[in-house]
Order: sequence, then C-alpha cells, then structure tokens
Amino acid sequence: MMSGSDNSKLTTCYADLHVHIGRTNAGNPVKISGSRNLTFGNIAKEAEERKGISLVGIIDCHSPGVQRDIAEYLQSGEMKELQQGGIAYGGTTILLGCELEIREPGLGPAHLLVFFPDFAAMKSFTAWLEKHMKNVNLSSQRVYSSARNLQQEVYSRGGMLIPAHIFTPHRSIYGSCSPRMADVLDLELISAVELGLSADSEMAGLISELDRYTILTNSDAHSLGKIGREYNELSIAAPNYREFEKALKREEGRGIVANYGLNPRLGKYHRTFCAGCSYIIDEADIAVERCPYCGSAKLVRGVLDRIRSIADREDPAVPAYRPPYRYQVPLEFIPGLGPAKFAALLQAFGTEMNILHRVSEDDLARVIGSELAAQIGAAREGRLALKSGGGGTYGKVAKD
Ligand SMILES: [Zn+2]
Ligand SMILES: [Zn+2]
Repeated sequence: MMSGSDNSKLTTCYADLHVHIGRTNAGNPVKISGSRNLTFGNIAKEAEERKGISLVGIIDCHSPGVQRDIAEYLQSGEMKELQQGGIAYGGTTILLGCELEIREPGLGPAHLLVFFPDFAAMKSFTAWLEKHMKNVNLSSQRVYSSARNLQQEVYSRGGMLIPAHIFTPHRSIYGSCSPRMADVLDLELISAVELGLSADSEMAGLISELDRYTILTNSDAHSLGKIGREYNELSIAAPNYREFEKALKREEGRGIVANYGLNPRLGKYHRTFCAGCSYIIDEADIAVERCPYCGSAKLVRGVLDRIRSIADREDPAVPAYRPPYRYQVPLEFIPGLGPAKFAALLQAFGTEMNILHRVSEDDLARVIGSELAAQIGAAREGRLALKSGGGGTYGKVAKD
C-alpha cells in the first residue's frame, strides 16, 4: 500500500556506540591504552566485514589527528558523509563521537559521550574543546568547563550527550561522581545513558531519575576484537544519525529492541573487592567498611553494592518501554572456542552477528562440532553458569 506507515520500512540492525581509537594513521597515540591497529579505518572495516555491526560510534573523533584521517577517507571516496548524519563505509555507518571527563567542584570525575551529526559540527566542537582541554589530541580528557555549559555546547551544535558506563567505580556519573545525575547535569540535555559492564537494566531500575532514558550497552572497546562485545539491537529505517536519534527518543516506531551485554556477574567490577588481599566480598556483606578477611580498608566498591547504596527504590521498577537486556557471553569467553575454530566460524558464516543471531545451532555444529555449538547455544540464551567478577578481574564461565 502506498500510504503505509513509515514503520513498514524499519529494519533491525546492530549498534556499538563506544569504540576508541588507539592511533592515527600517522602513528600518533590517541587512546594510549588502545591497540596500535585501532585506527578509524580499521574500526570501520572490522565493524562492516567481521562483526556485522552496522552502526558504530567512534569515540575520539574530536582529535585533530583522527580528523586528518577522516578527511582523507572522505576525499578518496572510500567513505562518504550521509545527508541524515554519520559517515558511511560500505553497509556500516560511523557516528562521530567523543568521550570527555567532567569534574565538578568537590565531586569525583565522570565520563560523558557526545555525538555530532556531521564532520563540520565535530570540528567546530574541537575548536571549542581546544580552549577547555590540556591536550585535545588524546582520548577521554578532562574538560575545564562546568558540565551544564558543556551540555549547551553540545546541543547547540545539534549533538547529543550520553553519560558513559554510568555505574563503573572509576570515572562515572553514579560510580564516582554523584548519587543523582540531576546534581551535576541538566536532565533535559541527556539523550540516553550507557550501562557499563557489571550492571544491567534491572539494576538501573533502582534509580528513578533513569526511568525516562533509553539505555545503551556498548563495548568501550580498546582493541578491534572487543568491538561488539556489548551492543544494541535497533529498529530503524537506516543506519544514520537521525534514525539513531529517533531510536533514543522512541519516536515513529524507532527504538532499541534489545540490549546485549555480559551478565553483570561476569563484569570486572560487579562485587566489592579488597585491594589489600584480592578477596571478593560476599553478597551478604555489602555494608562492610573493611575487608572481613585481612582487615584492609582499601575496598573497591562493586557496581551492585554502589547501586544499592544510592538507590531510591527498594525493588527495581523497569519502565514498560524498556527492551529486554539479554545476557550474552562473548564468544571469546567460551571455553574451547580458540582462534582456529573461531576463524572457521567466520569463514563459514561471515560475521559475528550472524554467528550470534542468525545461524542455527545445527549449522554451527557442522563447523565446530556439537559440543561447542551447544555451548554457543547456551551462551546465546544466557544458560552458561558463571562465577562473579570483582576488583578489575572478569568473572568466569564456570566449568563443572
Ligand atoms: Zn570512560
Ligand atoms: Zn571509553
């Protein structure tokens, strides 16, 4: 029918909006802890060819060295700017983003993600940042500006702001900055929030000011292999900035259909951990001030424990619009799935998203055998048994 609603054109795509750049093509460092081959071009290629991620947010596009690389890809025609925002590379669209650190007087640091619709807006933002940052070439740097002023600078350029990994113990709005976002940020100028590892949307339901915000789950990848370790399934008409914006606002049928992430228990900072003796403090002891094992006061607060201490609800209330958060054990965590078998799967099925979502267990079994295929099946359905992580160590798939 000619007059059919726009919704008939919606398709499913996978998005990871938090991927760092390690180096520029000229070899200059951007995220110092990121891998050397984590360049703008390689991220686009990895997302498009191996991961099957059609919307990838590259966080570090504010760096002038990265912008020189982007300009070259646009000039050569290898990539092109989309009218609706974003930069296309084959079937994948890159959203131009940046991660910043704010520090309000008397409070701890918090990371924020910002995105801009086009290259010109990002460059204009860099011109502002240069005056409010010590080294604009590097990733995740502190901005010397109030958080609310920063929000104005972002939205006045048509951008959006998304608090990053909101519960992680270091450098996040709830983990190290403030028990309420409203104390620091203008709640009107926030487009979504990003959960970090070690938290899920149910845990977010313990804080009522989060009810209005769409939740994103992203990888925060510092290497090519980690892209898509956590990701979002979107229902949009095409991968571009405007459609992404509509999805976050849940407009015209667009939205996030599912969040895929680690079971929080696998996250590095799920439980409180003692830096003195490496003891992970038990579920029952959340209020402890000192390690019950060695007496040290050097406790790293776990995400779950932190959320419980700042919650304004006893029981989580998850808004009806919120999509399911699907626990997914990344393929790299599956015991026995080494590089050779993984390569065979990619050879047979193209992309990781195909392996995770589109290929039947029987077809997987034909390539890697039924035992491993069953493990992947269990991982997809969140049925693998896990041991909790804490203090910077990932949890593990429990072997019985
Ligand atoms: Zn961060
Ligand atoms: Zn990051």
